Amino acid sequence: MTLTKDEILELDRRHVWHPYTAIDDGREPLVIVADEGASFRDADGRRLLDGNSSWWAAGLGHRHPRLVRALVAQAERLGHVSLAGLTHEPAALLAKELAEVAPPGLGRVFYSDDGSTAVEAALKLSVQYFRQTGRPGKHRFMALRGAFHGETLGASSLGGVDLFRSGFGPLVCDVVHVPSPAPEDDAAAVSATWQQAFARAAEEITAQREHIAGIVVEPLVQGAAGMQIYAPAYLAELRRVTAEHEVLLIADEVFTGYGRTGTMWACDQAGVVPDLLCLGKTFSGGLLPMAATLVSERLLEGFRGGRERAFLHGHSFCGNPLGAAVAREVLAVMREEAVIEGVQKKAPRLRRAVETAARLPGVRRPRQLGMVAAVDLAEGGYLGNAGWRVYEEGLRRGAYLRPLGDTVYLAPPLNIDDADLDRLCSIYEGSIATVMGAAVMGAG
Ligand code: PMP
Repeated sequence: MTLTKDEILELDRRHVWHPYTAIDDGREPLVIVADEGASFRDADGRRLLDGNSSWWAAGLGHRHPRLVRALVAQAERLGHVSLAGLTHEPAALLAKELAEVAPPGLGRVFYSDDGSTAVEAALKLSVQYFRQTGRPGKHRFMALRGAFHGETLGASSLGGVDLFRSGFGPLVCDVVHVPSPAPEDDAAAVSATWQQAFARAAEEITAQREHIAGIVVEPLVQGAAGMQIYAPAYLAELRRVTAEHEVLLIADEVFTGYGRTGTMWACDQAGVVPDLLCLGKTFSGGLLPMAATLVSERLLEGFRGGRERAFLHGHSFCGNPLGAAVAREVLAVMREEAVIEGVQKKAPRLRRAVETAARLPGVRRPRQLGMVAAVDLAEGGYLGNAGWRVYEEGLRRGAYLRPLGDTVYLAPPLNIDDADLDRLCSIYEGSIATVMGAAVMGAG
């Protein structure tokens, strides 16, 4: 490092605009100098366990040696060309390998840059498909309350959290939001079960079948909504009713994919094959931005018939060889290091962490699926900022536990070793206990 910590902070204060952060936020960013495995190190030499895989992207941990080697080896041969009339081994092989591990029939891969663009491509592609197959009226989308699908205009239109959409007013597109199947969606639907939520979705799909192109869902876990976990049966029923009414089922597995929920795809747990599957984050090992939209072969038919029927959409870094080489290595590591089997062994420790935390007064709704676990902290009084106080306490103890409001969650790298996982969970339990003002009871 050539600059001191204070010099970096000074430049940051003057020139860097941080995401989802107030410009006059009183909190100083941590200055990070290195990362490895399940942790990163700050400029004071502190090692912090990464409780959220750095916004869920470092699913295989930080700088996995095999991913770094794949990146370096690729950079020495072919760094970047577009996919405009060109192709190359990493993009071609990756597409084949993705088709092999994807739910059956999703044999075509459209590359993009990040989760948002993977979703954006799915939206545009769906609308164009219906326009070119004689149903131009099908151009609206449905999404769930509490949904989060990204930052671009189309993707943020799908967002079911008003706070994230309202700033963009008239620019967001017209999306039909239906209740979330998760047990506690929002104040208005506290008691909604998945069956009630499904009934509402089915009603809208049936009534608006001439207008709805697709419904976009985060399968099994609504991440940004606060790790809201819902029943696989909802997804299975949604598949049934969408197929019946020619509405596309677009699965956004940007967060849930790659073993996060204990199976390669969350859709697998519902026995569901979507029409489109959006991938990002762990897709490229959290090492560089790259994403993909996998498309069912059936949709290709709408794009045959010459240049004017082509999908007129494409990003500069579509299929970037560096990203593709790393993404191939991610699949190889998943296979050869039995990452998903590891998730199944490690997941009980996460469950124990949230159950331990939930024995404390004011800690509610312990929930866990695969390598995702969360509790909600009761709001009110001096605990109004409880999530952030747990965050501060976590830092003191050696973990990065950035909350989602008053939801305090864990989504560590899937391959975190057992000792680090135990330490992370103990810090989680202890930090919540300190903030909620009580000792952790029972085993921990
Ligand atoms: N979809 C889901 C389910 C997400 O959680 C996110 C980001 N948190 C996105 C899409 C957008 O991904 P990105 O930030 O890589 O654009």
